[in-house]
Amino acid sequence: MNTPTSVLPGIRRVDKLYLELLFRCNFSCTICYHGEDLKRPDTVTIEQAIGALAYFSSVFDCRSVCLLGGEPLLFDGLPLVLGGARALGYQTEICTNGYKRRTMLAQCADHLDMLRVSLDGGIASVHDSIRRPGSFDAAFDTLAWAAPQMRIGATCTLTADNIATVPTLAERLRDLGARDLYLHRVRPVGNAALSGVTPVTWDQTQQLHEQLTGMDLAPLSVNTDILLPERCPAPSDVVEKLEIAPDGRVYLSCAEVAGPGRPVRFDFDAAALVTA
Ligand code: SF4
Repeated sequence: MNTPTSVLPGIRRVDKLYLELLFRCNFSCTICYHGEDLKRPDTVTIEQAIGALAYFSSVFDCRSVCLLGGEPLLFDGLPLVLGGARALGYQTEICTNGYKRRTMLAQCADHLDMLRVSLDGGIASVHDSIRRPGSFDAAFDTLAWAAPQMRIGATCTLTADNIATVPTLAERLRDLGARDLYLHRVRPVGNAALSGVTPVTWDQTQQLHEQLTGMDLAPLSVNTDILLPERCPAPSDVVEKLEIAPDGRVYLSCAEVAGPGRPVRFDFDAAALVTA
């Protein structure tokens, strides 16, 4: 069996694990990096998910996990996986489209430190054109329901068509008491490669950086550093984000997700990283 150092040489810590529990989703967004994978039935089991959490906790000192999919609220064992993560000392988070599934979300609430909802624009028409009709209002309903019970946040995939609405989105999230807004640049993979979504330019992101840094958004924090091309890389022995797909593919940054992946994979049955 591979040792961790031979599989990821030089890496001593993983700050945050992104564990995709399933590919399936109740949406098929135009920006979705999963693309055809959304149709795949693959899921991990509850035991495999907890095995992965135990592995990254003990081998890479990981203390933060985001469970996602596909749509994690379609995964029946989600409350049990979240409870297992808490028992292992993790800060727990899910990233959801926030569309209905309130019963499942309520079952998760006691085990959740942060609810993150995907919002792809600051106004309904822009968000709904990427996702589905009614999804913008549903996402904000979900955030308003969760806000008194747990920390809330959002993630937004930037395109040339939605970037102008992001300041409005940030203000609305701030007013709800959200803690953070994670911005990502859309990449031409999966559905985004087929749907004609236009990526943002560095000029557009620079302009958004100036707008956001000039606004009073506290207590909302926004990862504005990704809007500038000169973003500082993390120390080389720390992985800020490691994402695992339900079929074991491994990505070490947002920029890699849904790309060819690394020459390593996660073996869910062995509960370990192995050479691909
Ligand atoms: S972007 Fe998220 S909500 Fe949309 S289809 Fe993909 S997994 Fe589902």
